[in-house]
Amino acid sequence: MAKVRKIIPQSTVDGPGNRFAVFMQGCNIRCTYCHNPETQSPDDPEAREMSVEDVLHELHPCVPFVRGITVSGGECMLQVEWLTELFLAVKALADETGHSLTCLIDSNGTIPFVRYPELMALCDGVMLDVKSWDETVYRRLTGATDNHVVKENLQWLLRAHKLEEVRIVCLPERVDIGNCLKHVAETFDSIGRKVPVRLLRFRPHGVVGELAHHPMPTDEQMARYADLAARLTIEVTIR
Ligand code: SF4
Repeated sequence: MAKVRKIIPQSTVDGPGNRFAVFMQGCNIRCTYCHNPETQSPDDPEAREMSVEDVLHELHPCVPFVRGITVSGGECMLQVEWLTELFLAVKALADETGHSLTCLIDSNGTIPFVRYPELMALCDGVMLDVKSWDETVYRRLTGATDNHVVKENLQWLLRAHKLEEVRIVCLPERVDIGNCLKHVAETFDSIGRKVPVRLLRFRPHGVVGELAHHPMPTDEQMARYADLAARLTIEVTIR
């Protein structure tokens, strides 16, 4: 059994195409800009205890309409055994129905993927939330000790051809997006492989605490980040 916060049967913002999105309960870091703070605690009463079969039951009628499943959070890698069983069951359902179903993970990257070969053999790609390259800023932003596992995951996933996209939340004045893009581009170049980067505009909706009233980045700021990414030959999308 696993703790699931919510399921969106057909989402267009959780990876390529229409996707069945599962949001797990519980996170191991505390981002100041988290717009789903209710997913952080592992024990929230609104989370549902669900078996893999329960999720498959909800997925089954959606199969003809989705390209696959995305598991997000919270942090879904905290319930990794269940996640592996789920992906195994989704791949079996794909075989049974004749519909191709991809299995994607949306992760904060604080747990090393290299430790889970069985999961990674089933997983078609990871959307990795890099947050900030600078360690001091990362610590301040997330409460985590450091971001070295995130950086190792970035390299490992690229080498393993399992990186679907890099995500960066654009929070002007707090996160140096230019520096983050530059280092991501250097990592792409060092490995000789690139994936798209999604720049997510910080939105205060749902955010609690010091950033609850922080302004959103302007269109001009987002365009400047996109320009910089283009100069670094990174393919970006903005949301
Ligand atoms: S990793 Fe995601 S769910 Fe966890 S605190 Fe940060 S924004 Fe919230």
